[in-house]
Amino acid sequence: MRVINFNAGPAGLPQPALERAREELLDFQGTGMSIMEHSHRGKDYEAVHDEAISLLTGLLGIPATHQVLFLQGGASQQFAQIPMNFLTPEKSADFLMTGVWSEKALDEAKYYGKPRIAATTVMADKRYTRVPKQAELQLDPKAAYVHMTTNNTIYGTQWHTFPEVGGVPLVADMSSDILWKPIDVSRFAFIYAGAQKNIGPSGIVLVVVDKEFMAKGSQNIPKIFRYSTYAENNSLYNTPPTFSIYLCRNVLAWIKSVGGLTQLEKWNREKGETLYAAIDRHPDFYRAPVEKESRSYMNVVFRLPSEALEDTFVAEAKKAGMVGLKGHRSAGGIRVSLYNAVSVENVKTLVSFMDQFVKTRG
Ligand SMILES: *Cc1c(COP(=O)(O)O)cnc(C)c1O
Repeated sequence: MRVINFNAGPAGLPQPALERAREELLDFQGTGMSIMEHSHRGKDYEAVHDEAISLLTGLLGIPATHQVLFLQGGASQQFAQIPMNFLTPEKSADFLMTGVWSEKALDEAKYYGKPRIAATTVMADKRYTRVPKQAELQLDPKAAYVHMTTNNTIYGTQWHTFPEVGGVPLVADMSSDILWKPIDVSRFAFIYAGAQKNIGPSGIVLVVVDKEFMAKGSQNIPKIFRYSTYAENNSLYNTPPTFSIYLCRNVLAWIKSVGGLTQLEKWNREKGETLYAAIDRHPDFYRAPVEKESRSYMNVVFRLPSEALEDTFVAEAKKAGMVGLKGHRSAGGIRVSLYNAVSVENVKTLVSFMDQFVKTRG
């Protein structure tokens, strides 16, 4: 029996996407072999690859100015690869600091250029409980780009209005909230997202890049690290993680089949509101540290009156068939990840467990 999976990443995948993979595992569309065993240069794999790109283009409304790339190395590799391509020792980039992942991105940029903190909401105890307001941004109009993290997986904060950054290219790590709702892709010069949260399994990073911005990338770095290399070869410069891309295709096809991002946004808002309402119903028992305007719809974090109660909460939830509720090791507490594969029903099950937990332990 499958559990209700609230893991932060790798996260649960939509069951229909997995069932399709099971159906096709040994014999992909009558070819007598698994898609994993196909050449990445063959027409069977290429059709899957192109379908993944076209599904994504349709779902996100990606304009012709932008190109989809599939890369490896995780979102963490992008922290280094972006400055490697777009910074030089004299060039600066502005960073909007909202959590652990923005800190890591900033640190890697120091190897190539001069990253600058244009806003931060870090507190004395090193935590973050909100994202900056527009008026708090101190942007440099000459920056090569502005880097932001749209959703902070660990602290449970999310940008609900993307910042205005003038004419400077906006680069966004959307690892934990891509595809949660429709967005205007044209506002971004560069979007990246590790697949294992809201797109598919680990092993693949999705990039959506403005072609003009990409053209400014350095030619003095190894080919394998240049975005243009992947763009010129439809992400088939070398062997991509074919099975990961195949599974992403299955997830994207599922998203389309249920009504696309408009439908997902409705479900995601209902999920978030249902869960935050449960927390707010018992303010003496469940404490949500994040300021209301910055609350994330993807990763909901809260505390219980003691760590011992938090451990009991996690253990009893597990007995009730719900896993993945323990907060990130650096933040503690409880974290509920509500990615697209989590249903409204799943959240209702958790909420009745939470109401009951207060009754018996509160
Ligand atoms: C998980 C995560 C990462 C790191 O992803 P890897 O693929 O493990 O490198 C980076 N940024 C954000 C926002 C994340 O949630």
